[in-house]
Amino acid sequence: MEKDYYKTLGISREANADEIKSAYRSLAKKWHPDVFATDSEEKKKEAKEKFTEIQHAYSVLSNPEKKALYDQYGSEEGPQMSSSGSAGFGGSGFGFGDIFSDLFNVFSGGDSRSRSSGSSRQRSGEDIELQLTLTFEEACFGVEKEISYKRTENCSSCNGTGAKNGKSYSTCSNCKGTGSVIVEQRTMFGVMRSQQVCSSCGGRGKIITEPCPDCGGAGRVKRQKTIKVKIPAGVDNNQMLTVNAEGNAGYNGAPNGNLIVVFRVLPHKLFVRSGYDLKLDLPIKVSQAILGGKVSILTISGDRIDIDIPEGTEDGTIIRVKRRGIKFLRKDTYGDLFIKIIIDLPKNLSIKQRKALKESMDVLENASYSKVDKFNKLTNN
Ligand SMILES: [Zn+2]
Ligand SMILES: [Zn+2]
Repeated sequence: MEKDYYKTLGISREANADEIKSAYRSLAKKWHPDVFATDSEEKKKEAKEKFTEIQHAYSVLSNPEKKALYDQYGSEEGPQMSSSGSAGFGGSGFGFGDIFSDLFNVFSGGDSRSRSSGSSRQRSGEDIELQLTLTFEEACFGVEKEISYKRTENCSSCNGTGAKNGKSYSTCSNCKGTGSVIVEQRTMFGVMRSQQVCSSCGGRGKIITEPCPDCGGAGRVKRQKTIKVKIPAGVDNNQMLTVNAEGNAGYNGAPNGNLIVVFRVLPHKLFVRSGYDLKLDLPIKVSQAILGGKVSILTISGDRIDIDIPEGTEDGTIIRVKRRGIKFLRKDTYGDLFIKIIIDLPKNLSIKQRKALKESMDVLENASYSKVDKFNKLTNN
């Protein structure tokens, strides 16, 4: 269960974006691990925990989508989704260990998280969405994949400032470094005041005197990024996985966007997936259908199991094998395997075969044929 993020930041539930941010800033300053560098281990640990809590609370409350989910459900992960057979994800937090916590709770990201502030304009980086093709087995059993993609990063030569060595800039005189200006307009209702992005510095609050040669003054560069992503067993087509903070770099120190991986799962040559269950068409010989017997099949996990075919099995009969389906996402349960019997009739019989069959069929002339017998009775044949 999550903590009360509002309490963590010491603000009311009605706090606006600026209030949330300033509460975060002052608390983060107060509890920053550097402040406690010379304190006891115990105190250091406490500060680190506090600081992590504060950061997490802010990461939720500063993100409109997560905040809305948290306000509604008491968790930034939203409601547990179980109706469709998709398991809800437990846990919360950040980092690679928990990159799955946001799965299924992905909303459109992008520029909606714009945050105006007292100082220069901060804005989260854009989310990056990419498709990842998985084999049927990879989706069933999970896999670790290397993903390579292009993203925008802050230029390391200038620390994202766009100014040479990160220093060749001066404070914008037009906005005095705040990045925004108050514009007064006379209208028939009186004077209207509105806050606008400073046009002299484009909201940065700084004027670059000598641009960084590596990024041409943009402060941002496109880079190829390769990360390893652990995909849990049980994911399905079109499901998404959010890798926190691996999207484009944030603006002016704001957090990165997320990387959103959308799965494309290739079909299997035999099995068809339905939720966590598997379906398999199993052709058997007509003799097996009549007499019954055992048929050995290869399961998805690669081991063989014997399927009992009862005597007199009809075409289309479904045989259910429990727990031989797909492992549930983050749960130690499995779906079932549903085997549909397809009776295969022999074709291109030789004369000898036809003769032998005719003889044996004569033997069966008076056997019990439930459907034929019933039909004949109804039609007085
Ligand atoms: Zn300015
Ligand atoms: Zn640069």
